[in-house]
Amino acid sequence: MRKNKIIYILILLFIIFLLIDNSPIFSQNSEEPIHSERREKMVRTQLAARDITDPLVLEAMGKVPRHEFVDARLKDDAYSDHPLGIGEGQTISQPYIVALMTQLLELTGEEKVLEIGTGSGYQAAILAEIAKEVYTIEIYESLSLKAQKLLYSLGYNNIKFLIGDGYYGWEEEAPFDAIIVTCAPDHVPPPLLEQLHHQHGRMVIPVGSVWMIQNLMKIYNKEGKRVSEGITGVLFVPMLRHMD
Ligand code: SAH
Repeated sequence: MRKNKIIYILILLFIIFLLIDNSPIFSQNSEEPIHSERREKMVRTQLAARDITDPLVLEAMGKVPRHEFVDARLKDDAYSDHPLGIGEGQTISQPYIVALMTQLLELTGEEKVLEIGTGSGYQAAILAEIAKEVYTIEIYESLSLKAQKLLYSLGYNNIKFLIGDGYYGWEEEAPFDAIIVTCAPDHVPPPLLEQLHHQHGRMVIPVGSVWMIQNLMKIYNKEGKRVSEGITGVLFVPMLRHMD
C-alpha cells in the first residue's frame, strides 16, 4: 500500500515536471543565460559595430529570443552572423539584415506595419516590439500556423496573421504606414504600392531575379513624389506565387 503511494507521488511529480518544462511561460522566464549572452554579443558585434544606430531596433534585437524561432538542432547557431533554415526550404534572415530593414522603416511606435513572408515569425516579433500593430502574410499554411503558436506563447498580441499570396497585400487593412517584404519579387507589386499610406508610407523590399543578388530598395515620399533608393545587395528566397 505504502509502496503504491510512493509510486503514485513519483508519477505525479514527473507529470508536473513535464508540464512546467513545456510551458511557454516557464521556458520564457527560465531562458538559459547562454542565449542572452549570445544575443547581447550579437547586438554589440554584428549590429552596433556596423551601422545599426536606432535605439528602438537595438533594444528589440536584444530582447526577442531568436533561438526560439529556429529548429532545436540549430539553436546553438541562432545568434550567428548568417541566415538559417526554418523548414519548407525557407530561411530566417541574418540578424544584421533583419535589423537593417527594420531601421530603414524608421518606426517610432505608432505605426501599422505590413510584413510579407511571416516565415518563422522572428521579423514579425521585432516589428511588434516597436510598432503599434503588425499584419503579416505567409503563403505556407504550415509556417504561418507554427509562427502563430510561437508568437502567442511569447505573449505578442499586436500581430495579425493571414495565409495567402502577399503579392496582393491586405486590402481590408490598408493603408499601412510601413511595408516590409522579406521574400524577393522580380518587380514591386503594384497592390503593395497602393496600400502604402500616400503621404508618409515607406516600404523596404528586395527586388530581383530568382537566386540572383537582389537590390534592397526603400520606397518613400520626397517632396510629394514617390522615390526609390537602392540600399544594398541582398539574397532572399523568391516571392512565390500561387500558380508556381
Ligand atoms: N520574415 C521571415 C523570413 C522570411 S523567408 C522570418 O523572420 O523568419 C521568406 C518567407 O516568405 C518564407 O516563409 C516564404 O514561404 C514566404 N513567401 C514566399 N512567397 C510568398 C508570397 N507570395 N506571399 C507570402 N509569403 C511568401
